[in-house]
Amino acid sequence: MAEEVASRHFIEQIIDEDLAEGKYEKIVTRFPPEPNGYLHIGHAKSILLNYGLAEEYNGLFNLRFDDTNPTKEREEFVNSIVADVEWLGADFRGEVLYASNYFDQMYEAAVKLIKKGKAYVCELTPEEIREYRGTLTEPGKNSPYRDRSVEENLALFEAMKNGEYPDGSKVLRAKIDMASPNINMRDPIIYRIARMTHHNTGDKWCIYPMYDFAHPIEDAIEGVTHSICTLEFEDHRPLYNWVVEELEYPHPPKQIEFAKLYLTDVVTGKRYIKKLVEDGVVDGWDDPRLVTLAALRRRGFTPESLKTFMKLVGVSKAQSSVDYAMLEYCIREDLKPKADRLMGVLDPVKLVIDNYPEDMTEEFEIENNPDAVNIGKDAGKRKVTFSRELYVEREDFMEEPPKKYFRLFPGNEVRLKGAYFVRCTGFEKDDDGKVTVIHCTYDPETRSGSGYEEKEGARKVKGTIHWVNARDAVTAEVRLYENLIDEEKGKLNDDGTLNFNPNSLTVLKDAKLEACMAGAKPGYSVQLIRNGYFTVDTKDSTGEHLVLNRIVGLKSSYKPAQ
Ligand code: ATP
Ligand code: MG
Repeated sequence: MAEEVASRHFIEQIIDEDLAEGKYEKIVTRFPPEPNGYLHIGHAKSILLNYGLAEEYNGLFNLRFDDTNPTKEREEFVNSIVADVEWLGADFRGEVLYASNYFDQMYEAAVKLIKKGKAYVCELTPEEIREYRGTLTEPGKNSPYRDRSVEENLALFEAMKNGEYPDGSKVLRAKIDMASPNINMRDPIIYRIARMTHHNTGDKWCIYPMYDFAHPIEDAIEGVTHSICTLEFEDHRPLYNWVVEELEYPHPPKQIEFAKLYLTDVVTGKRYIKKLVEDGVVDGWDDPRLVTLAALRRRGFTPESLKTFMKLVGVSKAQSSVDYAMLEYCIREDLKPKADRLMGVLDPVKLVIDNYPEDMTEEFEIENNPDAVNIGKDAGKRKVTFSRELYVEREDFMEEPPKKYFRLFPGNEVRLKGAYFVRCTGFEKDDDGKVTVIHCTYDPETRSGSGYEEKEGARKVKGTIHWVNARDAVTAEVRLYENLIDEEKGKLNDDGTLNFNPNSLTVLKDAKLEACMAGAKPGYSVQLIRNGYFTVDTKDSTGEHLVLNRIVGLKSSYKPAQ
């Protein structure tokens, strides 16, 4: 028990105290995306943290679009974000909330501040406002409009709302303290005039609230108790508190900041991802090399793997970059007991068993996934056909092998996984010196399941290779990925552009898979033994043209701490 308490992260500790002090009855958290791009893995951290807390404390989790800024918002983004949050399993009770639905209340809140003498209409130009604001080392000075009467402010603000002034000519400012050491508190702008059509409210408003004013009001209206955001808002917290106090909410929400999630070798940050999409560096927001949630899903990551990842990463106030290998570790661990293990040859070359009867076909029973027992399942067995002509991996043959190469080379014997021992007897090459056919003979006595290897005097082989029956193999396009950014050479080039890895995508057009993969459904994931985990692409795969994405290889460079 003591240990459990000690391992609670700082946000849980804050909530525990608040509950112990009776500050709140029910915990309410929220995820407040701006609909100006697709969600990425950093957002998943925020979603799972907020939703996880609501779940843990038996509270509520809200999905609320922060759509107070009408310039950049798009319906496409709203839809993708809702889909992503649902996919992660964060339950918002099917109720999508919009900050723009509170514009009336925000207007009323501004009026309330004016009436309290806590807000005024200012007519300084943007340049003057900047000038008056002061600097980090010098205090600002008061606007000449600061001491207008309440009546005058009310009339002006109403006229602003009614469209009587041009865009940018006036603003409403909170009246706080121009000498505050925190620049955010130097009479921040809370409303501006901007004639822009809003995707929800249309042309109803020509004044729009600023983020720092709108956000605490949105939280308070929804009864949010803990408003969790990232560290860049730390300096804004005094303003957040000022707003909820001056507006006299009975149970004011509390802002808590944590460190953003960053990953090595990938591009996080909506602005950067957007640029890659717009520049055509990647094929859309769901290009599997990106870490948008749409891309991770298409790549074959599961919500469970992301949850495990976020648990491993933890929640803290210290900024750091997490090794991408840790994310790979999590999807591997998740799929290990779930995904069937099949044979697939990525770069095929024919293997002809010269002493195997031409018209014969055998069937071998192969276990689908011995690790399924770890999740209490029996993955069963499947039948795999075998005949005279097979495909094997090009790299499993060498004309002149180096030391310790135990796979196919002239004279050597290997085990064909689940089938027979075969001995390489020769090979053919084309005019370019490329191997086109490998010849071998098989030993019928070594049939898998015959107990041959336990017999006295049985020959031992060191190599086992996978294969696919040429007669019924399914052809597939396989896409292999590496990280987009070449971090080894440094993330940025000398001119400040991102240093892309030229090998981030490799397309293999002629992979050969076991017959059971015919017609595999988009989103279906398997392990191709020795080659990694793969998923059927949800965008480009069709019944006629199977396309697989490699989710992750089998080898891990990440070791979890024990
Ligand atoms: P970006 O920095 O990628 O442009 P953003 O913060 O502008 O993202 P919003 O839509 O405003 O995107 O963010 C919604 C929520 O997600 C905010 O609470 C924000 O703090 C959080 N968030 C954004 N990026 C990360 C990250 N890398 N790690 C954790 N939380 C994040
Ligand atoms: Mg933002």
